[in-house]
Amino acid sequence: MTERRLNIVVWNEYVHERGTGVPADLYPDGIHGAIADGLRASLGTAAVVSTATLDEPEHGLPAAVLDHVDVLVWWGHVAHDAVSDELAARVQQRVLDGMGLVVLHSAHYSKPFRLLMGTSCGLRWREADDRELIWTVNPGHPIAAGVPAVIPLARHEMYGEFFDIPAPDELVFISSFTGGEVFRSGCCFHRGKGKVFYFSPGHETYPIYHDAMIRQVIGNAVGWACAGESSGTQTGIHESPNGWFEQ
Ligand code: ZN
Repeated sequence: MTERRLNIVVWNEYVHERGTGVPADLYPDGIHGAIADGLRASLGTAAVVSTATLDEPEHGLPAAVLDHVDVLVWWGHVAHDAVSDELAARVQQRVLDGMGLVVLHSAHYSKPFRLLMGTSCGLRWREADDRELIWTVNPGHPIAAGVPAVIPLARHEMYGEFFDIPAPDELVFISSFTGGEVFRSGCCFHRGKGKVFYFSPGHETYPIYHDAMIRQVIGNAVGWACAGESSGTQTGIHESPNGWFEQ
């Protein structure tokens, strides 16, 4: 019997790469293209990796597509408000029903992530070419598999605390910066039947998604977030007479 291939979609607003401010040779196929290439390399034949962008009809994620996604990867920054509330709510519901969601960099402020967190998801930031060190603080976690104690990024945007998220269910990475700040840069959350991983590296002006270790983390995260066989447990509100589970 052939095993079903995982259905992975990388979503990107795809605005910066088509404007000014991002070196043209950095992401010629868009940030989504680079992330998807990395996932194809790390997941091989186990997954079908496709992409979707804001400009496409229904932002590239009509129900017919979204309903069959195992893990959705999300990158957004300047166009969070252009994402329809309807799609944000559908992504939230799909996570509650078991879809995995990997939220990257400035998508900490995206509609779906904020809906799932229920907090402002605000943070400190600075674009000043800080060196970032990503510290693995949970080396036994599946998302840290094959990842060294420290991933150095020679230059990156600083994201610092306080990051207004609920306490993560599992914390995998903490970053430190030249300026002295620290940040919870790799955070796991369970919501309903689904899993959410937030990973902060990925500012659009740096070649972050070409970095082998960053690709390793994102590949691991997709594997971790994958729903697998769904539990028979029902979510929602159910009137339950005595003995209902024995019938
Ligand atoms: Zn940024």
